[in-house]
Amino acid sequence: MNETTKVEVTRKIRRWGRSRRARLYVWFARDDDRPRTVESLLTERYTNPVTAYRKALPAIYEAAGLPTTTKAAWSQTAGCSCGCSPGFVLDLDDRSDFEAIIGKEQA
Ligand SMILES: [Zn+2]
Repeated sequence: MNETTKVEVTRKIRRWGRSRRARLYVWFARDDDRPRTVESLLTERYTNPVTAYRKALPAIYEAAGLPTTTKAAWSQTAGCSCGCSPGFVLDLDDRSDFEAIIGKEQA
């Protein structure tokens, strides 16, 4: 592995729902600029490579300015009770929604 993980993180404050825990939603960047198909969007929602996401957590935390000790629990229903918005529930007592895109840095 001579590639370093590059992540982009955005943070929004959630204004709906009762949960006070922060959420983290993760995607992989695509290798090209073609628009995503509806099919791929639907598929990716339900086939999340959680193990790979976990490996990127340190880089995501660094980019987001979060403590390295932040705990992340994977939840298929993190963002919606129907399961369409899986993500990590963080042990941070705020209403942040983080969105992280994992890419590969050009060598
Ligand atoms: Zn849903």
